[in-house]
Amino acid sequence: MRIYKVGGAVRDRLLGKPVTDIDWVVVGATTEEMLAKGFRPVGADFPVFLHPKSGEEYALARTERKSGRGYGGFTFHASPEVTLEEDLIRRDLTINAMAEDDQQNLTDPYHGQRDLEARLLRHVSPAFAEDPLRVLRVARFAARYAALGFTVAPETLELMRQLSESGELEALTPERSWKEISRALMEDQPQVFIEVLRACGALKVLMPEVDALFGVPQPPAHHPEIDTGAHTLSVLQQAALHKQPLTVRWACLLHDLGKGLTPKEEWPRHIAHEFKGLKLIKAVNERFKVPRDCQELAMLVGEYHTHGHRALELKPSTLLELLQSFDVYRRPQRFEEFIAACEMDARGREGLEQRSYPQADYLRGAATAARSIAVQPLLEKGFKGPELGEAIKRERLKALKAYKENA
Ligand code: ATP
Ligand code: MG
Repeated sequence: MRIYKVGGAVRDRLLGKPVTDIDWVVVGATTEEMLAKGFRPVGADFPVFLHPKSGEEYALARTERKSGRGYGGFTFHASPEVTLEEDLIRRDLTINAMAEDDQQNLTDPYHGQRDLEARLLRHVSPAFAEDPLRVLRVARFAARYAALGFTVAPETLELMRQLSESGELEALTPERSWKEISRALMEDQPQVFIEVLRACGALKVLMPEVDALFGVPQPPAHHPEIDTGAHTLSVLQQAALHKQPLTVRWACLLHDLGKGLTPKEEWPRHIAHEFKGLKLIKAVNERFKVPRDCQELAMLVGEYHTHGHRALELKPSTLLELLQSFDVYRRPQRFEEFIAACEMDARGREGLEQRSYPQADYLRGAATAARSIAVQPLLEKGFKGPELGEAIKRERLKALKAYKENA
């Protein structure tokens, strides 16, 4: 049996990037031989094993053929006769289809090295079209390597466009899609992920609500970039520059969906877009079975981001309602993430990236003031049940009034 490093580990070594996880391919072996060597099998469908010591993935060389819709619609063929070249040709991109032996001898039948130098993300073969997830993978790699100057090869983009139009993207499971989306959002240039999906028509299929923002104008006084889609991409970029967590990035992507619903006659104003967007945010959340914390923050940011921007003008009673909506007493972290998303929204505007955002500290101070109300003294005064709740609210309101006066 012969063992090769494949995929990301080879690619990233050639790019001079740190290699985190290593994938291996094994040529000329049977499942029985792998088990005899102590490898542990993973998953039922794939001939993939974990190394008894390192825990790294070793896959038997295999060929694949599409036999139906979706990811389940694949048949695999793994046997000792399958060659390295045959295994490599089923991979998505040429830069991911290189292998290396323990002497660092490169096997590169599909010219991955040439494309690395040309900074091109290019599909290996027409079989690329057999797995629609590859559309998302290419967009994700584009986001990851944009800073190095990588772009999607025109013929690959064309194939992605055909895939997007074919209806195959709809066959992706929410789990597989979300895994790619969430990883892409955590890259340094997540906006490139959205741009590439848009360029090939996949955004219209996967997130028509986001796609609809392009071409929708906003008032130039607040939005020098004018276009709502361009604004959304900038907000996402700011979120990455400021190393925000996934929850915040997801909320940034979806915060203005309501603007896509504004009747043209009302442009460039977007009255009540915060509220109107909620059903769209909910739909996107559910489509990809998004984790609960991301779902929640996206809904809250969608509803309240304008409150965040107007924080200094809010009446104490409105401030209190805002803090109550966030349950800031039990969920202080979530409120911090809301503040961060608002700040990214404010900075994701052309020429305003460096602006100060005093609303952030003001909101933090308000939360501290409201949280400073102790329950014990009210209990001692004999309040209980709903009356206790009212009394706490009154005290918090008093604290917020004092806070606003002194701020
Ligand atoms: P990362 O740094 O994100 O791990 P990677 O290239 O190692 O990048 P993996 O998802 O770990 O990506 O997959 C390892 C290799 O398996 C890829 O480099 C590619 O050759 C192949 N591969 C993975 N998923 C697919 C797919 N859906 N279609 C085709 N090839 C794939
Ligand atoms: Mg990998």
